[in-house]
Amino acid sequence: MPGDEGKSGKVYNDRVSEQGVMTVMQSSGSLSNTFSLVVRPDKASMQTAEKLRRQLEEQGIGEDAVQPDYVIVVGGDGTFLYAIHQYMETLSRHAFIGVHTGTLGFFMDYMDTELEDFVSDLSEGRLEMEPHALMEARAGGKTLYAVNEVRIENPVRTQNITVYLNGEKFEDFRGSGLCLCTQLGSSAYNRSLGGAVLQKGLGAFEMAEIAGIHHSRFRSLGVPFVMSDTTAVRFSSEDFSGAVLGVDSDVLDMKDMQTVEVARSESKILHIARGKKITDFRRLERLF
Ligand code: NAP
Ligand code: MN
Repeated sequence: MPGDEGKSGKVYNDRVSEQGVMTVMQSSGSLSNTFSLVVRPDKASMQTAEKLRRQLEEQGIGEDAVQPDYVIVVGGDGTFLYAIHQYMETLSRHAFIGVHTGTLGFFMDYMDTELEDFVSDLSEGRLEMEPHALMEARAGGKTLYAVNEVRIENPVRTQNITVYLNGEKFEDFRGSGLCLCTQLGSSAYNRSLGGAVLQKGLGAFEMAEIAGIHHSRFRSLGVPFVMSDTTAVRFSSEDFSGAVLGVDSDVLDMKDMQTVEVARSESKILHIARGKKITDFRRLERLF
């Protein structure tokens, strides 16, 4: 019933924006919940997804690929990112939740051995919504959205980048590139660059250098910089040829670009549904 789906999607969006964090669908009977599945194309994930589909349909939760209340991801964090981008147009109408079929991840709390718990938490309304504002980047006449990070990388030659924060010049950078991540993305590429993992709830951006050049006549900050996510960040250069703009899993050629402007998105709010009572410290600790 398309009418019902539209309504239920809107109901919890409004509540999220009023209260920040909330529990959705206390009594699932009053709203007709629907789901879609985004599955990593490997055998284990596809088998898990089939089991899940059967169990959800037994609970009266129907599949709807276009207007799902829940986008259920089976795979890894990379699959979760892919799913979010697939539903970017209607992002705030869906809640995203995942079942892991590989190593443990940051976006997904349930293992493929916990399908019963997953289905009962979902059908009995035990999930909590965790809102995360995405990053919005404007470059080359396009608007792009990032869950994890926006990065400029030049594998071909030394890239000069002037960095402006809230319109003020901050530094001239030289090197292979810069990575600007969200709190969610701090455990991804940023961590490989020696950036700090940011605790959930911190409204922050973090900028990390990719092989910055530092010597007696040239220096940039040289260490990762954590700033408020209300900061407007601008990267500019007279020549971005050879560089790519990475936005999560996507890459764009920067040949004809002069600036990249990044800010917290006011319109794109991602809702991650969390059910399992696992602390963020445990989630982080169990990965290593
Ligand atoms: P991908 O293979 O799907 O992802 C690369 C790795 O990053 C995978 O192990 C993935 O976990 C993990 N990952 C993704 N988001 C994460 C997060 N928020 N916290 C912790 N780990 C996370 O590759 P892709 O689709 O091209 O790129 C997607 C993301 O990968 C990018 O946004 C970037 O952050 C990250 N990446 C990292 C490096 C690096 O660390 N050197 C290089 C390129 C890209 P799963 O195995 O669970 O999928
Ligand atoms: Mn992956």
